[in-house]
Amino acid sequence: MKFQSTRNKNLRLDSAETILKGLSDDGGLFVPVEIPVLKKGEIAKLSKLGYCERAKRIFAKFMTDFSEEELLECAEKAYIGNFENEEPAPIVKLGESVYMLELWHGPTCAFKDMALQILPYFLVKSAEKAGDGKKTVILTATSGDTGKAALEGFCDVEGTEIIVFYPDNGVSKIQQLQMQTQKGKNVAVCGVKGNFDDTQTAVKTIFTDEKIRSELAENGKSFSSANSINVGRLLPQVVYYISAYADLVADGEIEDGETINVTVPTGNFGNILAAYYAKRMGVPFGKLICASNANNVLTDFLSTGEYNVNREFFMTESPSMDILVSSNLERLVFELCGKDDGYVREVMKSLREHREYHVPDEILGKIKETFAAGYTDDCGAENRIKMLFEEYSYLCDTHTAVAVEVYEKYKAETGDRTKTIIASTASPYKFPRAVLKSISGANEADDFEAAKKIEVLSGLPMPKQLSELLEKEPRFTFVCEREEMAEFVLSTVGGGC
Ligand SMILES: *Cc1c(COP(=O)(O)O)cnc(C)c1O
Repeated sequence: MKFQSTRNKNLRLDSAETILKGLSDDGGLFVPVEIPVLKKGEIAKLSKLGYCERAKRIFAKFMTDFSEEELLECAEKAYIGNFENEEPAPIVKLGESVYMLELWHGPTCAFKDMALQILPYFLVKSAEKAGDGKKTVILTATSGDTGKAALEGFCDVEGTEIIVFYPDNGVSKIQQLQMQTQKGKNVAVCGVKGNFDDTQTAVKTIFTDEKIRSELAENGKSFSSANSINVGRLLPQVVYYISAYADLVADGEIEDGETINVTVPTGNFGNILAAYYAKRMGVPFGKLICASNANNVLTDFLSTGEYNVNREFFMTESPSMDILVSSNLERLVFELCGKDDGYVREVMKSLREHREYHVPDEILGKIKETFAAGYTDDCGAENRIKMLFEEYSYLCDTHTAVAVEVYEKYKAETGDRTKTIIASTASPYKFPRAVLKSISGANEADDFEAAKKIEVLSGLPMPKQLSELLEKEPRFTFVCEREEMAEFVLSTVGGGC
């Protein structure tokens, strides 16, 4: 199995090379040359296995340059002992037709752990296979959750360094503290004056900057990415969707072969893209429902074919979805335009130069066959948190609430009663002020005070890794201008961090 760039089909790399590079030199994203298909009866077989065995078998279809032993070893290191339960991604049933796939029981309490706990092991193995002996520098822009999950995953991993940039005013207090207090010898964290899109764009520019890259090479280092553009993040996400389907079959909740929808709270389009790949692999997923907050650029794109970033940017209570330029959408466009790399280059040029593009009806038609889309504002999400809490004593975070709300709207509008998996992407304790306000109406200015009150109201304990933050001293408090990010990178990797 090879991977190709969405902007140059002729560039073909093994998975190890792909994972090491992160982003293609031409600015494109790597995608599998062919999407492997599950064999007949394979889901039934998977349903009898544990998570790591399932993961191994699914990875093996894409990562043919890894041995099965290596893949199993990576999965076991990532998923055994680091998650709250033996089952890293448990499912909670609400009512008759909703299955909450809880992806946040890892070390940083957000779904990013599912991929970022395993990515470092993939990277170290990839460096053994395809590396040039250079040390890997992970460069990451975060809208809040990726940064901490990446720091936690790469902390003190031999042969790696990690630098995380976050928008200074775009993350929650808990998210910021999680990053600022990160331990480890090989980590650096920096706030940026600007929003997530600015930060992500600047990181992409640094990535492809020849001068910076050669300076890095002189120091025996090269860049890679822990952002969701890295194939090493996408594949672990494909695993949990297939695994969730297998779980529902194993538990007798659905028949093997029964169609089920998937609803995903979406930002950079990585999580829902993984569901798309799972569907293409043959998992009987019906509609993939893309849920956005007030930054509803994807809702518009998936329903009209026009992607237009020339609009107001909102800071919401679901900050990890406050994104206007969803990187992974490029992969979907590539798949749906018949893998026309020239077309993708054109579209991405239009996005860069005019901040918009539109796809022809033929592509829009294909989008609509597979995707549905909707959005809700903070108020809709808050109401949904309250309703779930009152009706099911179920507490969900603000991002997940967006998904549930959009799913309910979809159901009401279409009458589609198909069961759905809803990706639950963060612990409610990551966004405690908004969650407390939703369930009790109380305005509490302090995250930790809010969390205490939620504990009293819900009886659900705050995860230890979050409550401990209060006692930790911030290590990284530096904030820079966008133009200074390159300098921060060079000074960090030059002197070692
Ligand atoms: C990152 C994140 C999302 C968005 O996921 P994408 O893969 O970027 O679409 C949603 N919810 C939470 C809690 C997140 O951390």
